[in-house]
Parts: sequence; C-alpha cells; structure tokens
Amino acid sequence: MSAVPSLLMNNGTQIPQLGFGVFLIPPEETEKAVSEALSAGYRLIDTAQGYGNEEGVGAAISSAGIQRDELFITTKLTNSEHGYDKALRAFDESMNKLGLDVLDLFLIHWPLPMFDEYVETWRAFERLLSDGRVLSIGVSNFEIEHLKRLLAETAVTPAVNQVELHPEFPQEELREFHAAHGILTESWGPLGQGKGLLENPHILNVARRKARTPGQVVLRWHIQLSNVVIPKSVNPDRIRENIDVFDFELDEADMQAIAQVRTGRRLGADPNDFDMR
Ligand code: NAD
Repeated sequence: MSAVPSLLMNNGTQIPQLGFGVFLIPPEETEKAVSEALSAGYRLIDTAQGYGNEEGVGAAISSAGIQRDELFITTKLTNSEHGYDKALRAFDESMNKLGLDVLDLFLIHWPLPMFDEYVETWRAFERLLSDGRVLSIGVSNFEIEHLKRLLAETAVTPAVNQVELHPEFPQEELREFHAAHGILTESWGPLGQGKGLLENPHILNVARRKARTPGQVVLRWHIQLSNVVIPKSVNPDRIRENIDVFDFELDEADMQAIAQVRTGRRLGADPNDFDMR
C-alpha cells in the first residue's frame, strides 16, 4: 500500500498530500466509494455540503475501523450559507451528517464577491477554529484579491486554498502568492475532469516513457509542485491506481513536456462571476 506523505500547514498541523474527492458521487454510492478509498490507503476525504453526500462519507468512516486521528476530513460551506450565523448553523449540520465532533478542515466553497459576505463568513470560521470545532480553516476558489482582503481584514491566514488546477490551467501566479503567504495549494479537477487532458499527446508520451498511466503522471506532476491533490473515481481499479504515485519521479524533461499542455483555460467557473446560491 502506498504511503502518502503529509505537508505541514501554516498552523502547525499536517495534511495528507493526496486524498479522495467525492464531487458528483451520488449519495447512495458514496459510502461504497469512500470505503474502497479507505481500504486502498486514502486518509483524506474531500466532500462539501453542496455535494449532498456527507452522510455517505460519515457512514464509510464510522464503519472503517480507522482511528479518528489518522483520518483527515474536509467539507465546504455551501454558497447559500454565507454570513456569520448561517455559517455556524451550516457547520453544525455538516457535523451531524458526518458524525464527527471535530472537523479537520472547513473551507468556504466559493468567494461570491458580488455578495461581499466572505469576510464576515471567515469570522465565523475563525470562531469555529478558536472553539476547537475545526482544526484548520481554509478557502476554495479564492483569487489573489480575495485572499488579500482576508489577510488585511481578519486574523487567521487560510491554511489552504483549493482551486481548479491541472496541467492545462496550472495557476502559476496564484501558486506564487500562496507560497509567499504560507497558504497550501490544493488542486481540484486535478485529472482534468475526464475532458481530454489524459489523452493529450504530451501526457501520453511521458506516460509511455515512465511506464505509468496518464492519470498517474498527472497526479505525480501535482505532487512534485507541492500541491495537495484530491482525485475522484468510483472505479476500484482507478481508485488504487490514483494513489500509487509515490514510487517514481518525473525528471526535468518530463515536467517540461507536461508544461506544454498549458492552455490557460479553465474547465470550471470563474470565481469572480460565479454567483450561484
Ligand atoms: P478529477 O479531475 O478528479 O476527475 C475525475 C474524473 O476523472 C472521474 O470521474 C473519471 O472519469 C476520471 N478518472 C479518475 N481517475 C482516472 C484514471 N486513473 N484514469 C482515467 N480517468 C480517470 O475531477 P473532480 O472530481 O472534479 O475533482 C476532484 C475533486 O476535487 C472532487 O471530487 C471534489 O472533491 C473536488 N472539487 C472541488 C471543487 C471546488 O469548487 N472546490 C470543484 C470541483 C471538484
């Protein structure tokens, strides 16, 4: 079984560098998929209130027989629950669904800058942190300007920013900003969401050279950028394949070949326009 290394967050706690994402896994399939991932060695599970499958995650972790302090559970505040009191209430609901007393990482799912509530929402996150209900707090889909506001107007620097990131959209500028401020970068859509990245000729060439799968090459690229990465799959073979990326390395030529894949285009929403709630 692959040993997943951990990265140190700015608050002194550790996060596994590779975890299991459950976006778009139907609620009734989630317990099975997460159980499969836990038995393959994953310890970080990434869900969200908006995915509607926190109960399935909770069921899998309660039946897994794994010590609580070996698990790292992330969920995210859904867009309709921004605001101080609403965020605190929504957190309690998540904890009931997950069956947990203490959460490892709570993220603001989207900044929704058009509603201008993320600073107030962050203050609720700071409260949950100081009350010991959550061990780390972070954000998702935040652009540099949104992070700058949190840094200027609040007390706690986010531990992570989870953003769309893959070889087509490598987010160089945001990663540099994170590194300068001690914020870890967590990649969502790391495999390009099944939209062609894994068939790209540059990726296929590196995969052939390394005798690994395209998915493994792309996940290894994330690891070597020092990102946290959370691939999703419901296929047991792929679940195992995706965590088996710690016994090989990409060299400079491989990394440069993968850099050719860059288009600079997002697959998902632009955080500055995304206003769904
Ligand atoms: P992903 O890039 O992980 O792609 C998942 C898809 O890739 C699978 O459905 C499958 O079709 C395919 N796949 C998986 N493993 C493969 C393999 N080894 N070979 C070939 N194909 C493979 O996309 P994602 O699920 O969108 O992102 C991962 C996780 O990130 C999510 O599950 C979720 O936890 C998180 N996420 C967060 C946000 C956010 O706004 N914060 C948005 C999207 C996703």
